[in-house]
Amino acid sequence: MSKSPGNMLIKGGTLITMDKARKVLKGDILVEDGRISKIGKVSASAGGKLILDAEGKAVLPGFIQTHVHLCQTLLRGMAEDMPLLEWLKKVIWPGEAAMDDRSLEASVELGLCEVIRSGTTTIQDMGTVNGQDVVFESLKRSNIRAFAGKAMMDMGRGVPRKLKETTRNSLQTSEALCKRWNGANNGLVRYAFAPRFVLSCSSRLLSEIGPIARENKARIHTHCSEQAPEVAAVKRNYGKDNVEVLAEFGLLGEDVGLAHCVHVSRKEIRLLAQTGTGVLHCPSANLKLGSGIAPVPEMDESGVRLSLGADGAPCNNNLNPFNEMRLASLIQKARLGPGAMPAVNALALATIRGAEVLGLEHETGSIEEGKSADLVVVDLGKAHNTGHDLYSSLVFASNRDDVTHVIVAGKPLLWQGELMTLDEDAIVKKAEQEKKRLTAEIDN
Ligand SMILES: [Zn+2]
Repeated sequence: MSKSPGNMLIKGGTLITMDKARKVLKGDILVEDGRISKIGKVSASAGGKLILDAEGKAVLPGFIQTHVHLCQTLLRGMAEDMPLLEWLKKVIWPGEAAMDDRSLEASVELGLCEVIRSGTTTIQDMGTVNGQDVVFESLKRSNIRAFAGKAMMDMGRGVPRKLKETTRNSLQTSEALCKRWNGANNGLVRYAFAPRFVLSCSSRLLSEIGPIARENKARIHTHCSEQAPEVAAVKRNYGKDNVEVLAEFGLLGEDVGLAHCVHVSRKEIRLLAQTGTGVLHCPSANLKLGSGIAPVPEMDESGVRLSLGADGAPCNNNLNPFNEMRLASLIQKARLGPGAMPAVNALALATIRGAEVLGLEHETGSIEEGKSADLVVVDLGKAHNTGHDLYSSLVFASNRDDVTHVIVAGKPLLWQGELMTLDEDAIVKKAEQEKKRLTAEIDN
């Protein structure tokens, strides 16, 4: 494992490229300096590099999860069977408020173990209000590709004191974090300003985020129209629908990602499409919190940019892209018939379309020469996932335990089933201790 960093030869895999032509071929991938330098037949001597034998396996672009909350992983199972606003006020916000740097680190690293194990190479993470440097340190250590930013909250009912910031403080802290972390770890770590949602942000905060984010060449990441009571509350406050409110504050555009968009009107869908705003679809979370089913095929038809994410551990309770791809397809089939959302479309949401939503389509999301070597190897030779169609084997029959290797920018994060950048045993042990400490803290 100590050959030249970023150089590797992946031999004999079935390459599911997810390029424009959706090419699938049998061949090798040469990785040099962290990039895919050649696809096809590569002689082993061209290496002198780390060799990955992918015979009998599928090699695909790493999964992209455009909406996760790593800071909530320690809260998994603490908030079952509740609607969104109650779920936030009774458990999630108090849980986030009770965390210190130790529990935050345990939570983030536990989440990172899971997302990497399940084949994720890029995430967009909504952080927490306090201690965001801890999140960035862990992201850097793991070597995952990530957009992240501290959650911004300067108003709202039922928000714990420790999470409520002044408008000025929220903006200043976010900008300082952005200056510190945007482009860190050789560009793998980037900043995304993260106003939590319209109801937890003042109109002044909402109106000032856009210019600051754009000046700093950062992205914007928020929640939008997840549940009907949220939509109604936004309408009471502003007399408009959520997406229209975001438009008014300059918070739509190709540099913006909105998680959920379950309850959106035709007019809002048109606005999303016209502005190139990304929708971050989280099917498991939408089902578990009883939010509803996002009109993904309708948004797709209108030209909206779409992607997938697992959201947080307390509303899923997995951080696993295989579940999201499978559900993204199945729930639309239930609504619109079996022809809706074929497997290849679900896989596109989790790969190249996710890259497009994050503005990373020239860097990652497909297997093409010149792109970063962000790759995943999946064993398709198991009893449960051998089949006649590669896409359906991957989307409907495979799961995270079938992932054998995960590579980001040529660096192995998972190698033959073993995490390489994170000490999983130590992390699980620490998380167990911190979980107990956190529960005691919340109960006080
Ligand atoms: Zn979320």
